[in-house]
Amino acid sequence: MKPENQAASPGFFTSKLNDMVGWARKYSLFQYPFVTACCGMEYMSVACAHYDIDRFGAGLPRFSPRQSDVLMVVGTISHKLAPVLKQIYDQMCDPKWVVAFGVCTCTGGFYDNYATVMGIDTIIPVDVYIPGCPPRPENVLDGLMKLQEKIQRQPA
Ligand code: SF4
Repeated sequence: MKPENQAASPGFFTSKLNDMVGWARKYSLFQYPFVTACCGMEYMSVACAHYDIDRFGAGLPRFSPRQSDVLMVVGTISHKLAPVLKQIYDQMCDPKWVVAFGVCTCTGGFYDNYATVMGIDTIIPVDVYIPGCPPRPENVLDGLMKLQEKIQRQPA
């Protein structure tokens, strides 16, 4: 196709719309913090002025899953808590994303017992894993940027 006709082709508008929606979505993330254990302290420090998660458009947590698009699972998840986590995930509207914050949520961590879920991806799909016990705030921001890249690539 000649360059002068490219702007008029349907593919041009579709790809530009995808780019625009991806850009808007990745800088307007509303988190639902599902915080259960010690990783919560590090989660709070990411939100404070020194690390300033607001730079990434993710500064405002929501405490209703229906108003959230990123489920931030922070801390150890027990089998007793697993149905609650699943219900909260189900209550979120699409598109939605899940971040596993800390090694307990990623794999169960050092817990190896009957009560602990060995990774939240056995219950709900996970988009980004942030390892560490607890992860440093820099790791959390790195994970958030990886999520933004994924959101940008996702079709509108
Ligand atoms: S990963 Fe470490 S800091 Fe985080 S909840 Fe588990 S034990 Fe606590």
